[in-house]
Amino acid sequence: MAAPGRQVAAAVKAEAYGHGLTRVAQALDADAFAVASLEEALTLREAGIDRPILLLEGVFEAMELPLCARHDLLIAVHHPEQVVMLERARLERRVRVWLKIDSGMHRLGLEAETAQAAFQRLRNCPAVAPGIGWMSHLARADERDCDYTLQQLQTFETVTAGLPGERSLANSAGILGWPQTHFDWVRPGIMLYGASPFVDSLATAEDLRPVMTFHTRLISIKRLRKGEPIGYGGTWRCPEDLDVGVAAAGYGDGYPRHAPSGTPVLLNGREAPLIGRVSMDMITVDLREHPEARLADRVTLWGDGLPVERIAQAAGTISYTLLCSITARVRREVIPADG
Ligand SMILES: *Cc1c(COP(=O)(O)O)cnc(C)c1O
Repeated sequence: MAAPGRQVAAAVKAEAYGHGLTRVAQALDADAFAVASLEEALTLREAGIDRPILLLEGVFEAMELPLCARHDLLIAVHHPEQVVMLERARLERRVRVWLKIDSGMHRLGLEAETAQAAFQRLRNCPAVAPGIGWMSHLARADERDCDYTLQQLQTFETVTAGLPGERSLANSAGILGWPQTHFDWVRPGIMLYGASPFVDSLATAEDLRPVMTFHTRLISIKRLRKGEPIGYGGTWRCPEDLDVGVAAAGYGDGYPRHAPSGTPVLLNGREAPLIGRVSMDMITVDLREHPEARLADRVTLWGDGLPVERIAQAAGTISYTLLCSITARVRREVIPADG
């Protein structure tokens, strides 16, 4: 338990970071679910999820409010215009609201100076249920030595001081790295899927286990001569005679096209380096250290035994994008957790 005693709003937006929205929501015992859009929330309700659902960005237009009321969605209010929408709305029942403060992310959120006035207006608004909550989002909690999180914390505390309502600030990095940000509700995302939110550590260091393993098979092994180029653009040339393995996955499956030569894959429990360009359906692998390799051997691209953070780092991106980018043609297989 990374945040004992706190309530958990599990971030399942973006198909639960690529793991499947309803599948994950059904598997998780969270106090609430957090999504980015009304469509995602309605998908969860249609699947029979009856826990509270928080719309992290609130409604995009007034038309969405009656649906939020009907489906009992909890909405973030981050903009003065959304306050006006609520004041004008005539709803079949009151909606629950969390006020979102801009404590320093400078993306969404009410300015600290206007937040208390918005709070008073919403308190008097017939469309709004009693028990308004407070939330804000951390911009740099993944940098452990950066005091920006403490500044954001202070702003959040100052704005909400003395006011009633539950409070929520921490994402995964806040949960794992900044206990003073936990408040009443935590909002984990990436850590639920077993990846680290930190720039400088692997999931294993945080005691997280990867949920997704992305794998394929070797479909060709070919002996190439010294000097022969491999793949599009011929960007990699064999420094000596060697065996090249071809694995059946590429950017058409969600493997990053920018992964350079040297990015590891896992073959028979050991790493092998990718060589040449990633193409749509295939990647090529240097088999010099893998004389045992045979056709149809399993090739793990990330997951169990090969942290997705490693691939993200090699490809100059973050684990979040890799998890989200697995495409529709990739077959999903759900393996029950062994506890
Ligand atoms: C996505 C999101 C989270 C979860 O973030 P992680 O870094 O994946 O833990 C929490 N809060 C808000 C507002 C978000 O948009």
